[in-house]
Amino acid sequence: MVTTPEAPVAKQSKYEPVIGLEVHVQLLTRTKIFCGCSTQFGNPPNTNVCPVCLGLPGPLPVLNRQAVEFAVLAAMALNCRINERSIFARKNYFYPDLPKGYQISQYDKPLAEHGYIEIPAAGGTKRIGITRVHMEEDAGKSLHDGLADSSQWTSIDLNRSGVPLIEIVSEPDISSPDEAWEYLTRLKEIILYTAVSDCNMEEGSLRCDANVSIRPIGQKKFGTKAEVKNVNSFRFIRQALEYEIARHEQVLESGGTITQETRLYNASEGRTYGMRSKEQAHDYRYFPEPDLLPLVVDEAWRKQIAAQLPELPEAKRKRLVEQYGITEADAATLTRTQSMADQFEEAASAAKNPKRVANLVQAELLGRLKLKSLEIEQSPISMKGVAFSADLVESGAISGKMLKDLYDLAFERNEDFQAVYEKEQPQQITDTGAIEKLIDEVIAANPKQFEQYRAGKKTVAGFFVGQVMKASKGQANPALVNELLTKKLDA
Ligand SMILES: [Zn+2]
Repeated sequence: MVTTPEAPVAKQSKYEPVIGLEVHVQLLTRTKIFCGCSTQFGNPPNTNVCPVCLGLPGPLPVLNRQAVEFAVLAAMALNCRINERSIFARKNYFYPDLPKGYQISQYDKPLAEHGYIEIPAAGGTKRIGITRVHMEEDAGKSLHDGLADSSQWTSIDLNRSGVPLIEIVSEPDISSPDEAWEYLTRLKEIILYTAVSDCNMEEGSLRCDANVSIRPIGQKKFGTKAEVKNVNSFRFIRQALEYEIARHEQVLESGGTITQETRLYNASEGRTYGMRSKEQAHDYRYFPEPDLLPLVVDEAWRKQIAAQLPELPEAKRKRLVEQYGITEADAATLTRTQSMADQFEEAASAAKNPKRVANLVQAELLGRLKLKSLEIEQSPISMKGVAFSADLVESGAISGKMLKDLYDLAFERNEDFQAVYEKEQPQQITDTGAIEKLIDEVIAANPKQFEQYRAGKKTVAGFFVGQVMKASKGQANPALVNELLTKKLDA
């Protein structure tokens, strides 16, 4: 087997990685978790603030009901058990962007526990446990760069202070950077389907910290872990984990010990740096928040929220495969976003052959969108257009080649398929005489293949179909070509 330096064969390691992920997701409520301030991203600094989220003395927090419902919905989608009674707690620490000196979070009585996400794994799926989903408030933001006096000062923007978050903590069930990537991809997909967050990583609505350690294969006891903080893309998380795993191995192999610490990943250098020794839970002096009552989500409320749970990606994929006879790979592409899945279903149920719609989306639409860096929502060809084009091919009104040309034109002109088709009115050659003439020419030009066919190699027919279609510049009616060609070859 040939290998390149970019893709070396992984050397057999005597260690196995143990990875756990903590994901923070901002909830899409209109207002903050404990006050009525707007959560709008991008407003001028320190304009979405009030005495509560500024941490001024006196005012009391009031819990946002919508935030609770979103948190419960997300936890249900992640297969968690919702605790009827959960407790808000103060997590004490000092940081300039945390004016109260503590963050209101949940500690030993979280909102939800015992969930899981299934990820694809060799030969099937692997279940990654979710320890807990709890609610908390976001902190403000320290701005170290980009302002006129940034060389001298760090500025604080407290617009984000008090924006509702859920923290989703996984079990240390993840055993490779690839599995971590899969887990995060599934998690984001599920959260997007519930619509409780936009999961926009650039705007910080989804943030991920990774705990990673390694241990000799077969050992039960965990190694000492390092925490990699605030990496801002799934790709970088995979890279940061790869870096950390290699670093741990190197330290252990050279007889050193790993220190428990928090590390930052520098994406441009592709390496992590030690930031501070990792806090233990007791460093935060957690205690129940005296200004808030226990949060009670009783059965009636739980049922009401459960009724809003949409069909989730995994279930949708299974149903699409069964209902429309498409492959699992097709279903995976078509369910990447909920809007895409909805549009596909609308088109597929309207078209004569749903499988053809799935094929056209995969083979003709997605590639063109990718070339132009467009999202499915920006596609000039609507799903209705795809369904229309599928029916034309199905009935034999246009050939595959004509369809490709029309798709190209639609993208060039930024027009939907039907409009382009009606303007162009591409005509197929259905004149039997004209097609027979082409067939005769092709057979005459390829005597060797003709002999092979006559000798019993029937698959050569495909070659002749291709040649005839090419000779007709893709305009011959394929069904007619097939029919006439078989007659001639077998004559
Ligand atoms: Zn406020």
